[in-house]
Amino acid sequence: MADCIFCKIASGEIPSTMVYEDDMVAAFKDLEPQAPTHVLIIPKKHVVSAAELGDGDRELAAHIFCDVVPKLAKELKLSNGFRVVTNAGEDGGQTVMHLHFHLLGGRSMQWPPG
Ligand code: AMP
Ligand code: ZN
Repeated sequence: MADCIFCKIASGEIPSTMVYEDDMVAAFKDLEPQAPTHVLIIPKKHVVSAAELGDGDRELAAHIFCDVVPKLAKELKLSNGFRVVTNAGEDGGQTVMHLHFHLLGGRSMQWPPG
């Protein structure tokens, strides 16, 4: 999508510190890390949020959760645990309107989130 910052990161138009990439997804370091490890996993295609995922996205969602998350957790040495979170819409606190999963680790997380 033309004016989407994460589409531009996925295409390489905007630089990022990429930690993983394949034909479906990209994962890069968050610009304002909230934990010692803070990576964003995004679909390369523009999806607004988790609220917009549908029937055609099963392969994508499975790929993210069955392949990419465990692979990155291992590579980033998050053996003590981690958190995956996606913010959707206004109440969810979403600020970038391109679906992304925060992968956070390297410290103990609090619950409930703010
Ligand atoms: P959310 O508030 O869940 O929409 O998360 C958006 C995240 O994107 C925030 O954690 C930002 O720090 C991060 N972010 C925004 N712009 C960039 C960028 N150019 N490169 C890396 N992370 C970014
Ligand atoms: Zn986008």
